[in-house]
Amino acid sequence: MAKSVLSAPHFQTEAAAFAYVEAELWPNGPVCPHCGETARIGQLNGKTTRAGLRKCYACKKPFTVRMGTLFEDSHLPLHLWLQIIHLMCASKKGIATRQIQRMLKCSMKTAWFLGHRIRLAMDPGSTAGQLGGSGKTVEADETFISKSPKTKWTADEQERPGPRRPKAQILSLVERGGNIRSMSLDHRMVGPFLYEHVHKDSRLVSDGAQHYKFPPVASHESVDHSKYEWARGDVHTNTLEGFFSIFKRGIIGVYQHVSTAHFDRYLAEFDFRMNNRAKLGVDDVQRAAIAVRGAKGKRLTYQTIGEEAGA
Ligand SMILES: [Zn+2]
Repeated sequence: MAKSVLSAPHFQTEAAAFAYVEAELWPNGPVCPHCGETARIGQLNGKTTRAGLRKCYACKKPFTVRMGTLFEDSHLPLHLWLQIIHLMCASKKGIATRQIQRMLKCSMKTAWFLGHRIRLAMDPGSTAGQLGGSGKTVEADETFISKSPKTKWTADEQERPGPRRPKAQILSLVERGGNIRSMSLDHRMVGPFLYEHVHKDSRLVSDGAQHYKFPPVASHESVDHSKYEWARGDVHTNTLEGFFSIFKRGIIGVYQHVSTAHFDRYLAEFDFRMNNRAKLGVDDVQRAAIAVRGAKGKRLTYQTIGEEAGA
């Protein structure tokens, strides 16, 4: 499958890859990242010139479309970036770091970091907008993520001294027929998470967990999972069950040794595919284009991500 799809020119040559990314990031033509000039810009051609190199005749500086994006700090050719982005966007459960490493013939560290940069491109951040609204229902539910009671969760946790930490939990919110938003569950943050992501005029349905008491929304109904009540009419969180199942299969089957410190990044990846799913009219090609546009204005350094991991 992948082979025929990846035969498209922008996956194969740098010139075509630059043309593709430029069309996505500069829909109205090139913009100088130094001074904002849009008119007096020339393309530098020549045998020794890097692909995509431009010159701004206003500020006299050279630039490419990679500047000011996640692609900037990378030596990886753009057409290889696009291959990995495409695969991550098209694979329901994500793609293993090992597979990236084999495709690019790079180190595991490089492959792992590349995956995280693409996850950042998939993360809409503060531009996501709220779920729900008047007349709309938002489901909230949480689930445990673990391999088995005997398996400790991650390598980095195994190395940590002290008592075993509880199993990881995630919390997701989904607007029925719409978008999803997930986070690794921190009980103290549930209120702020709801406040930020759910429109106040929404109807919220959840289980009876304590952290849903007094939600910042117009109405709230719950089923009592602790009393084996899963649905009462349309009060249920069944929409999230399918998502949880895909996330678990991805985390356990594809990504394997995921540190809980990086959970939110993986959730952003799985949320992204869910929010841009075929059912909502987004195909593989469009989904990859959305991820490419998400690379704009974002930076992620290995140092930052290493510190987050406690490495
Ligand atoms: Zn300029």
